[in-house]
Amino acid sequence: MAADHSGPVPFSVEFFPPRDADAEARLWRAVRIFERMNPAFVSMTYGAGGSTRDRTVRIAGELATETTLLTIAHLTAVNHSVDELRALVGAYADKGIVNLLALRGDPPGDPLGDWTAHPDGVEYASELVDLIGGLGDFHTGVASFPEGHHRAPDLDADTENLVRKLRAGAEYSVTQVFFDVEDYLRLRDRVVAADPEQGAKPIIPGLMPITSLAGARRMTELSGSRIPADVEERLARAAGDGPEENREAVRAVGIDLCTETSERLIAEGAPCLHFCSLNFAKATSEVLDRIGVDTRGAFTPV
Ligand SMILES: Cc1cc2nc3c(=O)[nH]c(=O)nc-3n(C[C@H](O)[C@H](O)[C@H](O)COP(=O)(O)OP(=O)(O)OC[C@H]3O[C@@H](n4cnc5c(N)ncnc54)[C@H](O)[C@@H]3O)c2cc1C
Repeated sequence: MAADHSGPVPFSVEFFPPRDADAEARLWRAVRIFERMNPAFVSMTYGAGGSTRDRTVRIAGELATETTLLTIAHLTAVNHSVDELRALVGAYADKGIVNLLALRGDPPGDPLGDWTAHPDGVEYASELVDLIGGLGDFHTGVASFPEGHHRAPDLDADTENLVRKLRAGAEYSVTQVFFDVEDYLRLRDRVVAADPEQGAKPIIPGLMPITSLAGARRMTELSGSRIPADVEERLARAAGDGPEENREAVRAVGIDLCTETSERLIAEGAPCLHFCSLNFAKATSEVLDRIGVDTRGAFTPV
């Protein structure tokens, strides 16, 4: 992450597996734009459904082999036996991917529903970190939660779990998207206090420029997180009282908010800014441009 970067801080971009050929073409347009901005890494999330899973592995492999981008593949334990997880790690390794984000995942269909482990699978992400560590020379990251994971009884239990995952061998964590920098700073302090050695590992903040208030509400609801009242108020004011939200105004506020968050995180020494792009390049690159990343020429057609 200390490698050469064209702005005040390294940044990274998250993509998700496209559903069809059109969405895949859009993803690749975004990938090529970001590639020219020299991100520290890109990551590809891992879907809950069967066909998306095959596509995820294929596209993550193409990111690793057909671009200059360092690729991190997400991996979840949902509906997988240990044998299948081993095979999946092997499939990534065959494509040259040695950077994995080890996650438990959520129950398919209802992310907030009851979690049931595969009978021959693993129960928690820490076990997945352990499993990957035993399979070869991989670099593993995990998820962290500035507001606490919604299933953790309290913030202490949540911190304990993150430390457990780091002790199991994870080298860094990437946070859930948040909108209050204080939550990130408090998480960082909690991990340092719980275990200074593990607390020295990077906690990479997850960011997302909001372009739709309804979309942001849905995302936070599904992930058990929240939009702070002041942020909600600014967005709601921009959205207006009409039957349809004013997307242009919401987008402008969303980009302002994400820029402010990014600037504060840079000032607080965040190691890298991780943007959930939703497979679009424009909103994130506007934020990057405003924080001083060189985005010139990134949109020039090749
Ligand atoms: C950066 C990031 C990327 C993500 N990418 C994806 C993705 O690609 N695909 C996807 O489906 N989902 C993804 N998610 C969502 C993630 O899978 C969910 O948030 C999931 O609910 C938690 O996953 P975890 O890896 O943190 O689980 P864990 O660390 O296993 O924690 C799950 C819960 O169990 C508790 N727990 C853990 N270990 C123990 C223990 N030993 N004893 C008691 N309780 C314990 C924890 O406190 C927590 O409440 C991502 C989340 C983040 C933040």
